[in-house]
Amino acid sequence: MPAGDKDKGTARYGRQRGLGRLRRANLKEGARSGGWERLPEDAEAFERLGDRERRTHAGERLLARFNRLVALGQFAEREGEAAEVCEVRPGRVVVRFADGREEPAAIRRALEKRISGVRNTLAVGDRVRVVREAQDLAIVGIEPRRNQLARSDAHNRALEHVLAANVDRLVVCAAVREPEFKPGFVDRALLMAAAHDVPALLVVTKRDLGDAAPWVELYRGLGYPCLAVDARCAEDPGVRALAALLAGAACVFAGQSGVGKSSLVNACFPGANARIGAVAEEGFGRHTTTAARSYVLPGGGRLIDTPGIRECVIRGLLPLDVALLFPDLARWQPLCRYRDCTHRQEPGCAVQAALARGEIAPTRYASYRSIIDEDLAEHAS
Ligand code: GDP
Ligand code: ZN
Repeated sequence: MPAGDKDKGTARYGRQRGLGRLRRANLKEGARSGGWERLPEDAEAFERLGDRERRTHAGERLLARFNRLVALGQFAEREGEAAEVCEVRPGRVVVRFADGREEPAAIRRALEKRISGVRNTLAVGDRVRVVREAQDLAIVGIEPRRNQLARSDAHNRALEHVLAANVDRLVVCAAVREPEFKPGFVDRALLMAAAHDVPALLVVTKRDLGDAAPWVELYRGLGYPCLAVDARCAEDPGVRALAALLAGAACVFAGQSGVGKSSLVNACFPGANARIGAVAEEGFGRHTTTAARSYVLPGGGRLIDTPGIRECVIRGLLPLDVALLFPDLARWQPLCRYRDCTHRQEPGCAVQAALARGEIAPTRYASYRSIIDEDLAEHAS
């Protein structure tokens, strides 16, 4: 696509986002992804790198396009009342007003018809304008999104399933034991966050059951904020630190069943689970339906529960994108002999060399390989 095409859409709504920004930075000056350090001795390697043909990540294109389309549909500035989308399930959207009142609302046809290519026009976290028409609430405008978490729809891969919009943080939870730590899940979730420009946080739970330090060290070393917690202890320093981080923020929790997400929410915000449970009869993280929902946390934050986050299968990225979004691989990428190196069997691969020297964790490389060989290969077919 022409270089300026996408920029037109996003320029009006703020800085360049996510992977597109990384790619451009990488193209222009060979900078490392996501604020990762660039060492002076690499200058020569960046020279060699030269220009690269890059396709644009589908997720970012979608966000830019969505924002363009909703902008076209913005009604005379402040028509209607402001509300946020707090529940999305097939055929049903619920909005929440500033005073906490919740009510079902229907999106105006003219607005909905403009937004295609997605499974769900609206996502939890969308800021909307609503007007009352007879008995019903109509959504007449949508604010441009700051960011979104999305994956391709499980049933129709041509469609994007937007899990949540305007997310402050993706909290990735993994236990030291019971269930055992799964680097593949953690690395996919962190990649998904990075590709969508959503800040991530890794929480290693059940630190009372084993040694969390190696994991904390590994991920902190990659530049991710990381906490070890014992969620059964409200005075746990990790729990307190997490509570402080989450105050006032809209967050999505990702983690396999049983890692302690509910316990963690309860430890951070005593009584929150009871309240959440009262709204969602199945309880937080328990439902098997396709509904996504947000809950107001004490202190004004939002907890977004979205079943789609449970299996983090990566699609719509190129192997090169994945390598750029893995800080530990991105570091070496410019030193590989071939600039389109996928770090598998290519000769002169700096990533393979770093792996052999122990400078890349085997679990990280294994995640990378499994993502490009399985998730992406499946997508391509
Ligand atoms: P979720 O499925 O991720 O919401 O996990 P839960 O919060 O329901 O926790 C699953 C089980 O792990 C429960 O029996 C909890 O009591 C237990 N659990 C949660 N956090 C911890 C922890 O930090 N340490 C220990 N030992 N057990 C925990
Ligand atoms: Zn390589």
